[in-house]
Amino acid sequence: MLVEQFLLLSSTLITFGSLLALLKFILRSFPNQVSRISLLHDLDKSTDIMDPNTILAFIVGLVASIGVLIWINAGKAKPVLNPKEWQSFKLMERKDVSDNTAVYRFRLPSDQSILGLPIGQHISLQANIDGKNVQRSYTPVSSDDERGFFDLMIKTYPNGNISKHMSTLKVGDKMQVKGPKGQMRYSPDLCRRIGMLAGGTGITPMLQIIRAMAKNPKDNTKIDLIYANVKENDILLRKELDDLAEKSPERFTVHYFLNEPPQGWKYGSGFVSKEAIEEKFPKPADDIKILLCGPPPMINAMKKHLDELGYEKPNTISKLHDQVFSF
Ligand SMILES: Cc1cc2nc3c(=O)[nH]c(=O)nc-3n(C[C@H](O)[C@H](O)[C@H](O)COP(=O)(O)OP(=O)(O)OC[C@H]3O[C@@H](n4cnc5c(N)ncnc54)[C@H](O)[C@@H]3O)c2cc1C
Repeated sequence: MLVEQFLLLSSTLITFGSLLALLKFILRSFPNQVSRISLLHDLDKSTDIMDPNTILAFIVGLVASIGVLIWINAGKAKPVLNPKEWQSFKLMERKDVSDNTAVYRFRLPSDQSILGLPIGQHISLQANIDGKNVQRSYTPVSSDDERGFFDLMIKTYPNGNISKHMSTLKVGDKMQVKGPKGQMRYSPDLCRRIGMLAGGTGITPMLQIIRAMAKNPKDNTKIDLIYANVKENDILLRKELDDLAEKSPERFTVHYFLNEPPQGWKYGSGFVSKEAIEEKFPKPADDIKILLCGPPPMINAMKKHLDELGYEKPNTISKLHDQVFSF
């Protein structure tokens, strides 16, 4: 970005210099007319490039322009993601949020850096495990409003590749990242209503969209989330979800499902049922979307429910215009 701005400044200076040289050439070519018209005469005198005042004015102008450029640039967020290149980022901090899930904070190149991830998209992480490069998708739980770092909330599977590798990382270790990736790109005019079905860490892509909708008062999208987990302790980001639902119940609702509910549990129990989807979600229509993210067995069961309820069949690889979109 800085390079582009210096190029712009240089080309402005070259254009200005060329116009000045052309003006001088014309003035010198017609000395009689110049001496008769006092304005042209004054212009010729005041643009004498050998005059110390002109040189001083030029230097002051140049230094001021560069200063303003650097000042504007210093406050600007710098996106770092490159969809064509793997980049390494250092782990700054790790915070456990449950028995098997932690938030990993990675440092970006400068305090002004942001990932630059469009809402709804995700990144790939890569590591060499047993001699093979393994890649998996993750959606940060931090946003581009935060600078200098990004956070990933990752559940460790004992038989997992990347999630297990992540759990062995120490502060200062690096992880390879590439992105943005994915077909989803959320914008307020994407659709009228969204039904979200998330399981476990499948909440992370949903959260990006929920937050974007909630912080934009002009966004009229209504979102209904069904969030499935095994135990109550497994529910990730519950406080944030409950706060959002409490603040604007007409724009966002959340309904939890637990396989092992505690006594007195007021939400759904067992697996997410067809009836719950029918009750909570918008009916099939051209201006609604159903988003899915979670463990493959859960997603397959949900696709069957949705099919029986008359929603469109999802494509193998979901596209933005699909009614049922699986991350
Ligand atoms: C768009 C997108 C965003 C995602 N964001 C996140 C995120 O923010 N945080 C996060 O933790 N994950 C997220 N995931 C899931 C992530 O990509 C990996 O699938 C997950 O971390 C497991 O990878 P792994 O290499 O450790 O396990 P793998 O090597 O793929 O699987 C090995 C074994 O782990 C277990 N396992 C793996 N995945 C699951 C699962 N989903 N449910 C139950 N058991 C499983 C199974 O026993 C499996 O046999 C996201 C996925 C997508 C598509």
